[in-house]
Amino acid sequence: MKKKLDMLEELQEIDQQIDVLKASQSGLQAELSGINQGVDVVRDEVTQLETSLVEREAEKSELEVTHAAELENITRSETNMKEIKTNKEFQAVGREITAARKQVTDIEELLLQKIGQIEALSAELAAKKGQLDELAENSAKRTEAKQSEINKIQSDINADTARREGVAKAIPASLVKRFTILREQRRGQALAIARDGYCMGCNMHLPPQLYNNLYKYEELLACPHCQRILILKLQQQ
Ligand SMILES: [Zn+2]
Repeated sequence: MKKKLDMLEELQEIDQQIDVLKASQSGLQAELSGINQGVDVVRDEVTQLETSLVEREAEKSELEVTHAAELENITRSETNMKEIKTNKEFQAVGREITAARKQVTDIEELLLQKIGQIEALSAELAAKKGQLDELAENSAKRTEAKQSEINKIQSDINADTARREGVAKAIPASLVKRFTILREQRRGQALAIARDGYCMGCNMHLPPQLYNNLYKYEELLACPHCQRILILKLQQQ
């Protein structure tokens, strides 16, 4: 019986070790996705800038088309003027030309604004791309380091899992099952130390008869309060 208890204790130690390893592994996984998210944010910013730039360029082209069309209108009107006979018509075409020139000036103003916006966006985009490259390189290194830590922990987990299987094989299957269920129900602790008449798992006083029976190692005894399997330990470890 003592041997069974020792094996259960070993099982619990291995399980706790695996829990710790898994916790640090998922911590690293979270850091890993944090790193990737950081890169994704800047990559999205680059994409947004590129889209804006394309839009401004398209607006600029559109203005250029309108500009050319207006200039053409002016030229045409000026040509037509030569053939005009009446003063009234002459004045009407003159007003059209004035309006068209005003239009051309306005478009040129807008074009200048657009060019300014494009230059500013291009500069911003270049800076953002530089930032992205730097970040991506840096992140790649950090990702690699984190991944190798994660892999290292995984091989420790695998080793512990193999060791656990070896230990579990030597314990009756029904007991392993009981241990596993208890562990799930009792926040990872299927076993509890009994000392000075107390269960250290739940800090409750154990019935004296039960506590005395622990010394005999005749059967597995469980705490009547928390149901954990009791292991007698006389001294603090
Ligand atoms: Zn208890």
